[in-house]
Amino acid sequence: MDTCIDCALCEKVCNELQPYEKREPLKVLAAINKNEEIRLKSSSGGIFYILAEKIIKEDGVVFGARFDENWQVVIDYAEDMKEVEAFMGSKYVQARMENAYKDVKRFLTDSRMVLFSGTPCQVAGLHKYLRKPYDNLLTVDFICHGTPSPKVWGMYLDEVVKEVKSISSVEFRNKDKGWKDFSFNLRFNEGDKTASMLSPYKQNHYMKAFLRDIILRPSCYECKAKGCSSQSDITIADFWGVHNIYPEMDDDKGTSLILLNTDNGIDTLDKKQVISAETNFKRIKSLNPACYLSPKEPSKRDEFFARLDNENMIELINECTRPTSKQRLYKIVYDCTLLIYNMLDRVVKVKKSFN
Ligand SMILES: Cc1cc2nc3c(=O)[nH]c(=O)nc-3n(C[C@H](O)[C@H](O)[C@H](O)COP(=O)(O)OP(=O)(O)OC[C@H]3O[C@@H](n4cnc5c(N)ncnc54)[C@H](O)[C@@H]3O)c2cc1C
Repeated sequence: MDTCIDCALCEKVCNELQPYEKREPLKVLAAINKNEEIRLKSSSGGIFYILAEKIIKEDGVVFGARFDENWQVVIDYAEDMKEVEAFMGSKYVQARMENAYKDVKRFLTDSRMVLFSGTPCQVAGLHKYLRKPYDNLLTVDFICHGTPSPKVWGMYLDEVVKEVKSISSVEFRNKDKGWKDFSFNLRFNEGDKTASMLSPYKQNHYMKAFLRDIILRPSCYECKAKGCSSQSDITIADFWGVHNIYPEMDDDKGTSLILLNTDNGIDTLDKKQVISAETNFKRIKSLNPACYLSPKEPSKRDEFFARLDNENMIELINECTRPTSKQRLYKIVYDCTLLIYNMLDRVVKVKKSFN
């Protein structure tokens, strides 16, 4: 406050105070990268890599999220595909912006093509920072569940490995056992050997805390950048439920949902590199509600953060994510409905095959 000159510019460019309007995408696709190796290394269908490759081929610059030397997440830029590889895969931690916005502006003014990828709020923030459109900018966000606290991530790593520096890789979305039942995988060095902590996401404590919404940033519970309101050209996501719409596009190796929000987005996606099928936004809203709904703040979140510094994190996660009896009942009803729906679906298919 000592250095504030009262110009109110921060209020004018704040996406929380002045959010962009929600809008509908121009086109919605289910898509798979034809290159299976890339797809298996990516969290969904490997679409980000295709977009990044196009920009790099045009001598452009790609911004994305990578791990730093302490395994925290930062937004950085890449000028070749080797550097882009560090951005591949979802990292379920809030990324530090560092100098990314300033660097984007510098490259844009130098007339380089720029792809900026990040959470919807980071993309909305970039547009507010730039304050005018640039023809040489492509922005890509994703349907975002919310981003977890870097403090919790750091404390989790301290708890599960002796020395954070011994970690050699972290995968939040390892697909060895499939895309739908993905695993969390952390590799670290023990003496001259490499050890691995591979667990299905449902059994991993950090993933449990993330998916039960207990460790998300406070702003995520009232996200102002949802519903394609980040002004991104393209939104990428998982096409959960693809087996119900396009069963032929579900091999459990990852299928992407692509929302093409602008003409620039439509022109950039090279359809020759993907297997794709068009669908409509109404259907997507029911299959992937995170595209327009913020997560609900759990009643135990404040308690979790208040006790975090003094207690064993794993026990605290277990305690604070234990479902209430109401949630357990809701889950039973949900599972039964799903079972009946799938059985009816199968009966209809068998009947059709006889006709
Ligand atoms: C925190 C988070 C929450 C998400 N929530 C959902 C969801 O609820 N529903 C859904 O369908 N999809 C969600 N996604 C998106 C999904 O997991 C994939 O990232 C997306 O579908 C792209 O996959 P891909 O196969 O095309 O490429 P990938 O190679 O998997 O894409 C990686 C892209 O994500 C960016 N990225 C990775 N981690 C971060 C981060 N921490 N901050 C900013 N950018 C990052 C990279 O820079 C790169 O652009 C989420 C992703 C993240 C990071």
